[in-house]
Amino acid sequence: MKISRIRIFQVDLPMKEGAYSWSTQSFSAFDSTVVLIDTDEGLTGVGESCPLGPSYLAAYAEGVRTGVSVLAPGLMGEDPTQLDKVNLRMDELLKGHPYVKSAIDMACWDILGKATGMPVYQLLGGRLQERVQLFKVVARADPGLMAERFVEYRQSGFDHFQIKVGEHPETDIERFRRVLAEMQPGDVVDADANTGWKQHDALRVVGAVEQMFQERQLSCFIEQPCLSYEECLAVRQHTNLPVILDECMDGLPILLRGHRDNAMDLINLKINRMGGLTRARQVRDLCVQLGIVMTIEDSWGGEIATSAIAHLAQSTPRAFHFQSSAFHDYASIAIASGGPQVADGYMTAPSEPGLGVDPLMDVLRKPVCEFH
Ligand code: MG
Repeated sequence: MKISRIRIFQVDLPMKEGAYSWSTQSFSAFDSTVVLIDTDEGLTGVGESCPLGPSYLAAYAEGVRTGVSVLAPGLMGEDPTQLDKVNLRMDELLKGHPYVKSAIDMACWDILGKATGMPVYQLLGGRLQERVQLFKVVARADPGLMAERFVEYRQSGFDHFQIKVGEHPETDIERFRRVLAEMQPGDVVDADANTGWKQHDALRVVGAVEQMFQERQLSCFIEQPCLSYEECLAVRQHTNLPVILDECMDGLPILLRGHRDNAMDLINLKINRMGGLTRARQVRDLCVQLGIVMTIEDSWGGEIATSAIAHLAQSTPRAFHFQSSAFHDYASIAIASGGPQVADGYMTAPSEPGLGVDPLMDVLRKPVCEFH
């Protein structure tokens, strides 16, 4: 089987709630790139990469499209079902830029699934979970509004929440206090600072909130308090709250260093930060062997990226899967049909061959670029 055509589409994903705010950033929509790969045997695969704005990670939306344009001519004639070979070829053509390669890698997994008649979770190891635990993001807002949304989301079936902090320490402590007042036994809160605190601010916040949660015997995780690995490690060494590392976990070397330093209890594994499902699976499998529990997600996306998340999470042992996000649930438009089903705080990957999503061509419209 040979790649015969690559098409690149741009689509905006507007937020249902009007805006999505975290740390010091806020957006009303995210710019996503969808890649369709056609083959000489008539199969088409679909992938998606959607950075969370241009200044969150070293990734930006225009960069996805430019990067795929750089890679596409060199991928013509390659066999999309030979995933490692495709990834090595991409590395020969372009150094780095994993978020670019992710959309292509995802589309190739979709083709492999369609060619073999198997859903991607089966190809990634099997259906190890019946359904995938979701978390709902309580976006950064006024502390009172965050507490109100927390209650609203719980009523819609969620019991895992990610509250966005990482702004001003005093306001953040108030956010913890207001949300804690609404928590019920069994609720799990992951406070994600998204690198927003300086080390001394982080130490102040975790010092203040640790006792609050322990007194109520409720569960609170601290996610990526500061920008650098070293700052996060210092925070980790001063708190009993479990720590999740996200933004600084961008490959195997730092994962192994974190494991050796006992720098985290969990990691947040984002598919496009690793370069796609092929590389994310390597990290996932290593984490399982090392005993590291994972949040499995992507930086953002619609039904296509969320389906990839669902397949990777569903093929991960329950004991090593903390939670995932259903990003398509936050958008006011759909870009594909047949995506993961969401109900009662859980999602289920489609069981059709491949990723199980069909892009809505009237939404994607004309490709911004096309290669034969
Ligand atoms: Mg995070």
